[in-house]
Amino acid sequence: MVTIKSEREVELMREAGLILAKVHLELADMIKPGITTMDIDTKCEKLIRSFGCIPSFKNYDGFPASACVSVNDEVVHGIPSASRYIEEGDIVTIDTGVIWKGWQSDAARTHAVGKIEPEIQELIDHTRESFFEGIKVATAGGRVNDIGKAIEDYISQFGYGIVEDLVGHGIGKNMHEDPEVPNYTCRNRGIKLQKNMTLAVEPMINLGTWMVNWSDDGWTVVTADGAPSAHYENTILITDGAPEVLSLTPEEKKLYNVR
Ligand code: MG
Repeated sequence: MVTIKSEREVELMREAGLILAKVHLELADMIKPGITTMDIDTKCEKLIRSFGCIPSFKNYDGFPASACVSVNDEVVHGIPSASRYIEEGDIVTIDTGVIWKGWQSDAARTHAVGKIEPEIQELIDHTRESFFEGIKVATAGGRVNDIGKAIEDYISQFGYGIVEDLVGHGIGKNMHEDPEVPNYTCRNRGIKLQKNMTLAVEPMINLGTWMVNWSDDGWTVVTADGAPSAHYENTILITDGAPEVLSLTPEEKKLYNVR
């Protein structure tokens, strides 16, 4: 079911988003060679709880941690591990979410660990940029699948693979609500966007093939060819004009020139 939020609910989702943005900034600061993916999760949960929030990922469908931490060819849903050390040259995606007074926010970032290959840094940058290209068409009266078309139109020039097995989603009281928000061109334009809908838009982009596999742990999604993958996600609010990006700080919004 697609839900339209009241002004009061939007305000709570704004608060949730700002907290999540701050959590991500603090986690970005700790990324360095020699830490484990479990270290990232431990810090993530501590931060989320320090803001008075509940980590939404923890125990979601049985997921054992507060953050999905995915390294290199892991696309999403990496399970944090005390034996998984990150090394110079790796890339690490942190995907996490908070619940604030019953309202959710969901966001992901991919980070470089030390010095990485230029083509992998470009993958990270282009993936982030594709999010901002996608949300340019996310306005009331527009259609949800136009977002994915805008993402694909931007990404196609680089020859990357766009993951199709996983998509963005509506969000509100629940982490995953309707509608689905694909990151690729669909045969139809999807439902009409309305003011005060809230969506998690999250391009997952591979340096090689778009195809992915599920690991034996039941969670971790990896690229089929072993090439690296980047992910960038924010929770956005549909308005009559440009969407508001709820899970960025005011400084980040200025940097990326969004509301
Ligand atoms: Mg999401």
